[in-house]
Amino acid sequence: MTFVITEKCLGERYATCMQVCPVYCIYPAEYEGKVFAVIDPELCIDCGACIPECPVSAIIEDPEEDPKFAKINEELAPKYKNEPTPEPRPVTDPPRKGHV
Ligand code: SF4
Ligand code: SF4
Repeated sequence: MTFVITEKCLGERYATCMQVCPVYCIYPAEYEGKVFAVIDPELCIDCGACIPECPVSAIIEDPEEDPKFAKINEELAPKYKNEPTPEPRPVTDPPRKGHV
């Protein structure tokens, strides 16, 4: 089991989750031409620290809730592993897609 970043992050990527992950396993990525972030299932220790940090509630605890995005996180993680962590967007910055 590992935590998963879902479609809600797509185009948003606040990156606030990356600041709190104790094992640095959340990587900035791109998917379908939009900014995104993925959790590396090889490294995630299921601590839950990232969950309350996401302003758009994009992180889920159970991969079975969203098998499609669980697979996307797993497939993209090796590619984006070494990307530098971006500056986080302020949480006061409204979601671009307007869903929370
Ligand atoms: S805080 Fe949420 S929106 Fe931002 S990168 Fe993490 S999962 Fe994506
Ligand atoms: S659950 Fe913990 S280890 Fe896994 S991505 Fe979130 S903060 Fe990182």
